[in-house]
Amino acid sequence: MKDLHTHTTFSDGKNTPEEMVQAAIRAGLTEYGISDHGYTPFDESYCMPQSRYGEYRAALAGLREKYKGQISLRLGMEQDFYSVPAPQGLDYVIGSVHYLRCGDAFVPVDEDAAILRGAVSRYFGGDPYALCEQYFDTVSRVVEKTGARIIGHFDLVAKFNQQSPWFDEQHPRYRAAWQKAMRALVPSGAAFEVNWGARNRGLRTVPYLTDEMQAYLTALGGRMLPSSDAHRAADVGKFG
Ligand SMILES: [Zn+2]
Ligand SMILES: [Zn+2]
Repeated sequence: MKDLHTHTTFSDGKNTPEEMVQAAIRAGLTEYGISDHGYTPFDESYCMPQSRYGEYRAALAGLREKYKGQISLRLGMEQDFYSVPAPQGLDYVIGSVHYLRCGDAFVPVDEDAAILRGAVSRYFGGDPYALCEQYFDTVSRVVEKTGARIIGHFDLVAKFNQQSPWFDEQHPRYRAAWQKAMRALVPSGAAFEVNWGARNRGLRTVPYLTDEMQAYLTALGGRMLPSSDAHRAADVGKFG
């Protein structure tokens, strides 16, 4: 079993890389990846400064050596669509969209529902589906932009929709938007995460990639990869 989407104190995780590796071993994983957030200059609150990229690589290489008989450790990075380019020497990149570009502003899609409601009225003329269409249009280009082999939390835009609904996930325009993005991404060969991060944090009862999305992806011949998106040791390997 493997878990390739996790965060440490190099970005917004609570535990050190070594604590996370030890948790992965305890969870019985055979392959484990750390994927801290690449740098976004317009929001430094959650990501790794570029000045630490060298230290990050060295720390993970050291742990890979130290624990090599116990687990296969991979060096990854979660790149936002708007992150600066990733450093050389990574094993893989996860490509994710955490922001909408609205004029000069970068609106976070995963911070809280009020921000999204505000953005709908301020930038999208009160039309939540227009916001969703822009989100999925950006997602449809995330592999091309970041070089990702894994597509992070494809439907992150719906993060708060279960607790605080602001649009209808059955609406034909929402469905058309995600289906179009999925069709654009499948030929890249990148795997779509089945990401349990919001479930693990009690925000949703379902993973990213709803059942309906998983069925559509399977019909298109796309690949899926479960991940925890753990931000603390207790959540490593927690999916399904
Ligand atoms: Zn993310
Ligand atoms: Zn993440």
